[in-house]
Amino acid sequence: MTHLAKTINSNFIPIAEPWIGKEEEVLVLDALRSGWISSIGRYVGEFEDEFARFASAKHAITVSNGTAALHLALVALEIGPGDEIIIPDLTYIATANAVAYTGATPVLVDVDKDTWTIDPNKIEAKINRRTKAIIPVHLYGHPADMDPIMAISRKHNLFVIEDAAEAHGAIYKNQVVGSIGTIGCFSFFGNKIITTGEGGMLTLNNNTLAEKIRILKNQGVSKTKKYFHPEIGFNYRMTNIQAAIGLAQLRKVQKVIDRKIAIAKLYQKFLSPLVPQVTLHPQAEWARCVFWLYSILIHNKGIKNRDHLMEALKESNIDSRPFFYPIHHQPKYKSKDRLPVSENLSTSGINLPSSPNLTDEKIEYICKKIITFLD
Ligand SMILES: *Cc1c(COP(=O)(O)O)cnc(C)c1O
Repeated sequence: MTHLAKTINSNFIPIAEPWIGKEEEVLVLDALRSGWISSIGRYVGEFEDEFARFASAKHAITVSNGTAALHLALVALEIGPGDEIIIPDLTYIATANAVAYTGATPVLVDVDKDTWTIDPNKIEAKINRRTKAIIPVHLYGHPADMDPIMAISRKHNLFVIEDAAEAHGAIYKNQVVGSIGTIGCFSFFGNKIITTGEGGMLTLNNNTLAEKIRILKNQGVSKTKKYFHPEIGFNYRMTNIQAAIGLAQLRKVQKVIDRKIAIAKLYQKFLSPLVPQVTLHPQAEWARCVFWLYSILIHNKGIKNRDHLMEALKESNIDSRPFFYPIHHQPKYKSKDRLPVSENLSTSGINLPSSPNLTDEKIEYICKKIITFLD
């Protein structure tokens, strides 16, 4: 299989490359030659149907990106000004931004130190009369602890929107993520588990809600009257060309996931001698993590700290990324909250190269560099 994403320096090991091959080329060419290059065309429907099966959902609805999926989910659930939405403090900024677009307020909850996902024990303290929904995030491919989250949502009558942007195919107990809450949201950005360049998907079972989302993503247009718009909708449509890439990607998603898990096992094997100086990517006993980006925590302070390790890796042509900043440290969401687990993970966590096309030898090479540096 070839991959189109050529880096300038061929020795450079990127953090996450798309795995694009002949299959994508064939379907994209077909989409181009069909003339259906915008959002009408056979690939949009086929991608949605196959993704619905993959995600165990009755409905899968394509959108232009993962952030749009989250925004649309909130709008469809009639979230707006005055409402509060509970999200984890450690996540990509899009989770908070989607809430802000609606005029609602993101309420930040600390994460659990053993799963890096929202801590269910800290949610209820943040619930009040204005709370409308919880958005658990399946961070770096690890499912959030959904049973207690769903129990809390039933008790307080809240919606649950799963942010599964980093976790296609991850399993919580016996359920695939994105099929557990009211709505699941996925991203197909270039570095995600599968890609459409830019793209997103909503998954859900409720027919009425699905119908509403389809109308809202298409300028709120009436189903029966052309150019008549009873709702203020959006243009959040995915193109047929993107869907063609997505369909080819989806047909090999299990291979990608299997390789991600194999990569994680190799990292575990080579890096386990560093424990407890280093914490390895966790996997709860109830979880099948898909290890979107294999990640570790570096507990050293001073000269051999996380940031210096990243510099050393860069000198060896190895790409890495620090964990996200806590949302409450971002300028637009600043608060004086103490969210210690999120703060601690944010300064010690590092994402390592996790492309499915990474060879076993390259992983061993990366681990040797980490071990030498920390020695
Ligand atoms: C990537 C990502 C998103 C947003 O997806 P885009 O397709 O980039 O808009 C949302 N949430 C999380 C956790 C993500 O990692």
